[in-house]
Amino acid sequence: MCGLLYGSTRGAGGKVTASQAILKGLADDGGLFVPDRIPALPMSMKEFSALSYQETALAVMRQFLTDFTEEELRACIDGAYDDKFDTEEIVPLKEADGVYYLELFHGPTIAFKDMALSILPYLMVTAAKKNQVGNEIVILTATSGDTGKAALAGFADVPGTKIIVFYPKDGVSPIQKKQMVTQKGANTFVVGIHGNFDDAQNGVKAMFGDEELKKELGASGYQFSSANSINIGRLVPQVVYYVYAYGQLLKRGVIADGEEIHVTVPTGNFGNILAAYYAKLMGVPIGKLVCASNENKVLFDFFHTGAYDRNREFILTSSPSMDILISSNLERLVYKIAGNDAGQDAALMRKLSETGRYEITEAMRKELMDFAGGFAGEKETAAELRAVYDRTGYVLDPHTAVASYVGRAFREKTKDDKKMVIAATASPYKFTRSVMEAIDGKYDGMEDFALADRLSELSGIPVPAAVEEIRTATVLHKTVCEISEMKAVVKSFLGI
Ligand SMILES: *Cc1c(COP(=O)(O)O)cnc(C)c1O
Repeated sequence: MCGLLYGSTRGAGGKVTASQAILKGLADDGGLFVPDRIPALPMSMKEFSALSYQETALAVMRQFLTDFTEEELRACIDGAYDDKFDTEEIVPLKEADGVYYLELFHGPTIAFKDMALSILPYLMVTAAKKNQVGNEIVILTATSGDTGKAALAGFADVPGTKIIVFYPKDGVSPIQKKQMVTQKGANTFVVGIHGNFDDAQNGVKAMFGDEELKKELGASGYQFSSANSINIGRLVPQVVYYVYAYGQLLKRGVIADGEEIHVTVPTGNFGNILAAYYAKLMGVPIGKLVCASNENKVLFDFFHTGAYDRNREFILTSSPSMDILISSNLERLVYKIAGNDAGQDAALMRKLSETGRYEITEAMRKELMDFAGGFAGEKETAAELRAVYDRTGYVLDPHTAVASYVGRAFREKTKDDKKMVIAATASPYKFTRSVMEAIDGKYDGMEDFALADRLSELSGIPVPAAVEEIRTATVLHKTVCEISEMKAVVKSFLGI
């Protein structure tokens, strides 16, 4: 098989290898790296159904990351999917209330970002060696909560890397903040800024584009890289669990070989559902990809009208990781439905940045047949969470509850009873307050850790280590700075 190369969705800059795409993160023209073609599954689903999660990961990732050797990939996978996960299955598939919840939250930070961020550091260090990059890699990240902690946990003590995370000092939840400022690892740095998430994000972007700073870093043996969700090194590991989930259903005899299933994904940046689409294109028998949004329903509107329009009010919901108005990874789908026409993609993205809106053609809309869109308001989300708990005792987090509601509505509307897999993206323990308030109003106002204890009683599931640890953990990161000081802080951490 010849190697797969990656090019920009906006066409400029030529082709690069998988390892180069991982190191660069974003293409030079601002586009996203996409593979030349989507590879086919290397074996039958029946054969896949006999594999462990790690073996599945190796078989799937080899098809995409063709300039990595089997030994290199195996080492990355073994380093990532080990006992940092609290179950050997890595992603258990739980049946409840007539659907199958694919639990993607058994990693160190109890949210699905761990699925990719636990392996990205290994892929990056391997990619650096492969491309004779002698510099130490400095990961710069701005976070509104979840990504920061998952990236910190992934990169902590990984040789050849440092990670610096900026978060809005007063803009993250108390548990999220505690998770970050107690992070161990000599190569980790966490900084609160006097500003909001956009300020943090803009500050980080400015540093990525700062040629002067780049030179200074290079002279001291450093280079920046990004752990952002548009990195192909985050997307590819996410394809794995959809292949694995289908294999598990087959192995359990829930479905016959070749039988189609549907998948519903609670969506923000469009990374997770795009991975499911790639799994389908590889040959996994997936029928519809149901894209579930919360009240920030830009994607729902896109699938229903063909117009993407971010000119609207930004709504804070109980599913904050889906509070997004620009779904970056959607660009990869737009490129695909434009018939891999980079010129058309670039024109639409230019419209988006200039006017906040673009509309796709009729021909492109026809290519969206594999997708369905739905959304859940705050009331529907809480009611779904409570109803599933009342009927089955299974406790969803609010993001998963959005998907659960949308998946159910899809089945009712279409009268389609194919088996449904719902991506369960966070542990209910990560959003204890919203979860407990949805289950019973009497928990209003109770303190966070007390709520975790009550949730444990209700669900019969022990409080996860990720929550237990931060009850008593020591604060290790106390740096706070002004927006204007971000660059100086980075330089002082690096001693330059
Ligand atoms: C990031 C996140 C999502 C959204 O995933 P995308 O890949 O950005 O669409 C959904 N749920 C949770 C809990 C998340 O952390």
